[in-house]
Amino acid sequence: MTRTTRSSYADPMPRGEESGAPGREGGCTRDAHHGLSAHEVVLLLESDADRGLSEEEAARRLELFGPNVLPSAVGASLLRRVLRQFHHPLIYVLLVASAITAALGEYVDSAVIFGVVLVNAVVGFVQESKAEAALEGLRAMVRTTATVVRGGRRRQVPSSDLVPGDLVLVEAGEKVPADVRLLREAELRVDESALTGESVPVPKDEVVLDARTPVADRRNMLHSGTLVTAGQGAGITVATGTETELGQIHRLVGAAQTLATPLTVKLAAFSKVLTVVILALAAVTFAIGVVRGQGAVQTFTAAVALAVGAIPEGLPAAVTITLAIGVARMARRRAVIRRMPAVETLGSTTVICSDKTGTLTENQMTVRAVWTPDGAFDVTGSGYDPDGVLHDAAGAVVTAEADRALWWCLLAGAGCNDAVLVRKDGRWDLLGDPTEGAMRVVADKGGLDEADVAERCPRIEVIPFSSGRQYMATLHRDPGTGDHLVLAKGATERILALCAGQMACDGSVRPLDPAAVLTAAEHLAAGGLRVLATAALPSADPDTFTEDHLPGTLVLTGLQAMLDPPRPAATAAVSACHSAGITVKMITGDHAATASAIAGRIGLLTSPGPREGDVLTGVDLTALPDREYPDAVDRARVFARVSPEQKLRLVQALQERGQVVAMTGDGVNDAPALRQANIGVAMGRGGTEVAKDAADMVLTDDDFATIEAAVEEGRGVFDNLTKFIVWTLPTNMGEGLVILVAILLGATLPILPTQILWINMTTAVALGLMLAFEPKETGIMTRPPRDPARPLLTGALAVRILLVSALLVAGAWWLFTWERDTGATLPEARTAAVNLFVTVEAFYLFSCRSLTRSAWHLGLLSNRWIIGGILAQTAGQLALTYLPAMNHLFHTAPISGPAWLRILALAVLVSVVVAIDKRLRHHLM
Ligand code: ATP
Repeated sequence: MTRTTRSSYADPMPRGEESGAPGREGGCTRDAHHGLSAHEVVLLLESDADRGLSEEEAARRLELFGPNVLPSAVGASLLRRVLRQFHHPLIYVLLVASAITAALGEYVDSAVIFGVVLVNAVVGFVQESKAEAALEGLRAMVRTTATVVRGGRRRQVPSSDLVPGDLVLVEAGEKVPADVRLLREAELRVDESALTGESVPVPKDEVVLDARTPVADRRNMLHSGTLVTAGQGAGITVATGTETELGQIHRLVGAAQTLATPLTVKLAAFSKVLTVVILALAAVTFAIGVVRGQGAVQTFTAAVALAVGAIPEGLPAAVTITLAIGVARMARRRAVIRRMPAVETLGSTTVICSDKTGTLTENQMTVRAVWTPDGAFDVTGSGYDPDGVLHDAAGAVVTAEADRALWWCLLAGAGCNDAVLVRKDGRWDLLGDPTEGAMRVVADKGGLDEADVAERCPRIEVIPFSSGRQYMATLHRDPGTGDHLVLAKGATERILALCAGQMACDGSVRPLDPAAVLTAAEHLAAGGLRVLATAALPSADPDTFTEDHLPGTLVLTGLQAMLDPPRPAATAAVSACHSAGITVKMITGDHAATASAIAGRIGLLTSPGPREGDVLTGVDLTALPDREYPDAVDRARVFARVSPEQKLRLVQALQERGQVVAMTGDGVNDAPALRQANIGVAMGRGGTEVAKDAADMVLTDDDFATIEAAVEEGRGVFDNLTKFIVWTLPTNMGEGLVILVAILLGATLPILPTQILWINMTTAVALGLMLAFEPKETGIMTRPPRDPARPLLTGALAVRILLVSALLVAGAWWLFTWERDTGATLPEARTAAVNLFVTVEAFYLFSCRSLTRSAWHLGLLSNRWIIGGILAQTAGQLALTYLPAMNHLFHTAPISGPAWLRILALAVLVSVVVAIDKRLRHHLM
């Protein structure tokens, strides 16, 4: 049942009152919009096939039907999420231990163990919810818009504002914003894999279908969440939000965004194996104890202590949280992570392949020079403000009338153009492509204003620009004479191929001189200017306006050269990448000369200086023999006139050479390369939805410097993960070993299971987690990328973990024995041992703040979270030691001042040993 089944949209029923409508599962229903003609659907939805809904009606329907969004919390139910917290092997061990302890009559211990399980579940639940909320927030950062026609006017609205009845326009690269019945289309193809699993894009048309046609075959419907890969279409929205097909699926399965990365998966597997090993060890220990006749209850308690102590229970949660914090930090720096593994991969990136226009440059174009076969002109002014003039070679101010070729060149630039300039708050703003905006502005400066152009030559047909085609052409009809006229603009080589002649200053047509045109273009491009050629055909045959017929028919009118300044932060970011051992390569559709000039300006060719083979064009790439391809690609730093299709092979070749590749892209055709890259990076502003969908990371500001920032954050996240592991493992090993030794020696346990639980749970939250907030280390971008094959723990770190574990075991035994020998009671001696473990961990936490440098270097107070955590832990230890209730629960007892001094002295000793080890091994990290 859907809300869209109602017969009247003008007078709909209030929310929640609809009933009795046939279900969608039945197939043949009143809401089977695919079974109705386009006209019937328009009538049913009380809309208009040309003018759409009025703004007022759209607002009314929005109020009535609610926004076009899918509820985010539809994931797992609350109960399931709570229950999931208990679904860990460790928790099973604890629950069994709690039950057996209760059966043995140790009710207090049993309750404490159970209490710890509960606390753990609560902490896990809260942390997981927070991490999920953070991810949810990220999704909202990449907002999608939809193009609608309302009241006869085309406009962009947030997708969430769409309502049933809205006339929606879609084109290649966009995501379908709601369920739409097609009214008209042109070569429309849609990737419906999100809905049907079918990965090959399906063609769409507006024919009426049998009402029983299953969703996957509804050719006349566009479904929310699917991606338009080619063509254009217009249709009426028939369902929004949860009422869409996607909404129905979403409701069934929930959109589970996981926090999993290769590392978390590996760690989870590692934890499972570890648990089994530890349980086996505990069982053997139990058996040895019983065989030795140590008493079943006592030995069982010891075995439980061993299991509980040795399993690193805080590890999975800490890893997830560290990753989530990293993702949030990246989002603050405008890099939105769409797939979690990217966080890890970023730290290992060795090559960044970046687009030029808009990523390394500002994408704010200003035409600076115009060349015609008989003249050359400078243009003054900057930005989209039409204040400025044209000068001829002698420096005199001229208008378009000075040279017929100039007039036609400006007309072609402005007429073959979809950009619109609007004046807003005293400033000129651009709607559309900056290249086209610049061509409109220069026409205006030359005396051809926008209204003039539109009036003189209304457009009839268009061959749209695409990165593959590299030109755009339009067919117009002069209302005065009735003559047809073709205008074209694009990459110089492409336009030359369309031309048979070139225009002289008096308007006459001369034979084409491609060499002269190319030399002029090369000369302009060498200054870093983006050069487009223009062409025209003053009286054309409209029937021959096709891609196949156009070549060799037009007249070249001139060249327009525009400045697109490098982004201010790009140079610094490129240099930071170089120091970090990351190669930056530019991949652009632009001319080789323009690309190299810009690359030179941002320092892309400076380290290690310009070399032979630095610049390759798309043509060079095609000509390269397979054998030489990977080497040449690995060596080159600028790829010019590359079509999006060539990017995929580039990525593969680099990967073959062992590189970890981040690749940017924004168009539909970039999607395969983005998927293939180790990190696909899409542009949040300029990119298509298809590219964003294929990407692992979206830059909300389209800026190259943001990629560099994300790499830096990625390295920081990995460091913090390593720090946590290096910090937590010695505690677990130490605790496990203390118990093991006690059992093997047949000695009294220096620490009890409940005390071990206390240590593990409190320190993981109050101490270990604070490492996730550790700021990035200085020099993080001066070391080489991490080899993805390198294990998380290097030999040196493993040795450090063993060293600290051994010190903990020795220290705890020595202290426990000393206390007992000097007259302390058993609870007192155990309390001292527990406090020793926690104090050593707190001291060791400082050491773990940096993997290579000493704690003093970082400044003791530079991570306030750690100070807060240590204060909280201290309060907890004092409560555990001195509060009678805690003494009762955890079998502890107040200890003396001298005992504390011994604890502190031991902790200092451990810190000194670790500091020496760090210094000795500094060069090994
Ligand atoms: P990048 O890939 O770095 O973003 P780019 O923007 O130059 O570079 P494309 O958009 O593929 O890459 O453009 C390739 C070429 O097509 C440009 O160098 C230009 O000559 C031409 N071109 C760009 N925009 C248009 C347009 N709107 N109309 C006609 N031709 C264009």
